[in-house]
Amino acid sequence: MSISENLKAIKEELPGHVSLVAVSKTKPVADLMEAYRAGQRIFGENKIQEMTGKWQQMPEDTEWHMIGHVQRNKVKYMAEYVSLVHGVDSLKLLREINKQAAKYHRSISCLLQVHIAEEETKFGMDENEVLELLRSEELHTLTHVKVVGLMGMATFTDNEAQVRKEFSGLKKLFDKSSSLSPEIQVLSMGMSGDYRIAIDCGSTMVRIGSSIFGARNYH
Ligand SMILES: *Cc1c(COP(=O)(O)O)cnc(C)c1O
Repeated sequence: MSISENLKAIKEELPGHVSLVAVSKTKPVADLMEAYRAGQRIFGENKIQEMTGKWQQMPEDTEWHMIGHVQRNKVKYMAEYVSLVHGVDSLKLLREINKQAAKYHRSISCLLQVHIAEEETKFGMDENEVLELLRSEELHTLTHVKVVGLMGMATFTDNEAQVRKEFSGLKKLFDKSSSLSPEIQVLSMGMSGDYRIAIDCGSTMVRIGSSIFGARNYH
């Protein structure tokens, strides 16, 4: 199937309250344009330099989400245009995003990445760190960032019960967080292999790459 057909099939499946981030990392601009012409506006990338290159080539009303691990020294390259940063895992990183956003008189929306998977390699904060950050006085002084939700990645496994348990745990933390702060409204969880489970568990935003654009080639 083509990119536009894949996209259409997935969109038809998504409930109205779930938004779709088309994960276009490693894919050429021509592929993104095919999705754009089919109506897709939100694109997710995991490398700041690659995203910036694509931002320069794509139509202006495209929305860019940074979904990968963010290196502080590269925040300056996306501060002008990024609309949502999914992978925020420290106050230190929020301070840097705040500082760079101020230069463009912008406020950048961010999600706190929570570590829910078994694998050691996946980045993110634990529950206490999330709650502590949301309660911190300093957060309110950072007027150029807005923490609007949480993001998490489940363990890469066929064990559906485990994935469900991890997503449900994140949903619980999300509910706790949104009772602390009314700005917390976005729960980003679910990828090609597990988005149906994620939606079942309360996701409001799915990040789907290979089911739209096909398998990625890493050189
Ligand atoms: C690559 C990536 C995705 C999309 O993965 P697919 O399995 O291709 O849908 C989603 N989220 C993050 C954080 C990613 O890095």
